[in-house]
Amino acid sequence: MAAAGTESAVTVYYDGLPLKTAKPSEGAPCTGCGLCCLLQPCLLSVEIFGKQDACPALVELADRYSCGLVTAPQDFVPAGEMRQAAEAKEWGWQALAQTFGKLLGAGRGCDASD
Ligand code: SF4
Ligand code: SF4
Repeated sequence: MAAAGTESAVTVYYDGLPLKTAKPSEGAPCTGCGLCCLLQPCLLSVEIFGKQDACPALVELADRYSCGLVTAPQDFVPAGEMRQAAEAKEWGWQALAQTFGKLLGAGRGCDASD
């Protein structure tokens, strides 16, 4: 990957992408910089939303990005079988959020190559 470019108080530009922090080394704790999701929607995003230039579930906070499928799937999962299944049980959304987190490797550190 190319070197990081200019930097401001909250935004670090990387090839024109507005990151929230510099990307940490691969394997280091995820900082929510946003690089992986801004570069290309992940396979889970493509599976749920179809192929799009930008992932509809990428949530921008003041100091980091987060994945809406993990933090609030009820706000992002579109109508269909998955939504019906989650709504059918009181714990459905929580289970879905945990499943999405597992599928995305949440807590396992930065999985974007250096
Ligand atoms: S689904 Fe989540 S992890 Fe995947 S690209 Fe969208 S915001 Fe990123
Ligand atoms: S996984 Fe890595 S590239 Fe993706 S948001 Fe976290 S720190 Fe940034």
